Amino acid sequence: MERISWDQYFMAQSQLLALRSTCTRLMVGATIVRDKRIIAGGYNGSVSGSVHCVDDGCYVIDGHCVRTVHAEANALLQCAKFGVATDLADIYVTHYPCLQCCKQIIQAGIKTVYYAEDYRNHEYAIQLFEEAGVKTVKVTLDYLAVDTNYKEKNAFVNGLLDELEKTANNRNDVETWKEEAERLFSK
Ligand SMILES: [Zn+2]
Ligand SMILES: [Zn+2]
Repeated sequence: MERISWDQYFMAQSQLLALRSTCTRLMVGATIVRDKRIIAGGYNGSVSGSVHCVDDGCYVIDGHCVRTVHAEANALLQCAKFGVATDLADIYVTHYPCLQCCKQIIQAGIKTVYYAEDYRNHEYAIQLFEEAGVKTVKVTLDYLAVDTNYKEKNAFVNGLLDELEKTANNRNDVETWKEEAERLFSK
C-alpha cells in the first residue's frame, strides 16, 4: 500500500478547500498545519452571511475583487475565532500568497509557506518572507497521489484505445486520443 506524503496530503486538502471558493476570479484554498495536524482551513469567500461573487458578480475596485476574504486570512481568522495558536505553524496554499496575506502570515507566526502554484509572486512579499525567516516551498500537487485507482483507469482506457485501433477508420484519431490519454495519466 502506497501512502501519500504529508505534503501531498495537506496540499490536496487545500485544493479541496479551493473548490469551495465563492469568488470566480481565483479559487484558492489554505490549510494551516501544526505538528502534522490540520488546525484550520479557508478558501476565498465573502464575509459570512454576505452575498457571494458567484451569485452577484465580483465587486471590483482597481482590478481587485474587494468582496472576498482570502483563503489564508480565512484560515488564520478561523484560528482567531476559536482561540487556536498559529505560532510556529505551517500553511499550505494553492497559490503563492498576495502581499496582504504574506504580511498576515508573518504576523501570525507561520514558519513555512507551502504553495502549489506561482501567482504574481510579489517581490516585496518575497522580501518580507525572507526578512522574517519564513520559508517558502513549492509543492506541486501530484494528482495521482489522491486518485487511488488511477492505474486501473489508465489500463482500462489503454485497453479501450487498443480495441478501437483495430477497427478505426481513421488512425490519426486514435493516435490523438492515445496522446491525450498519455498526457492525462502521466501528470
Ligand atoms: Zn469576487
Ligand atoms: Zn491574499
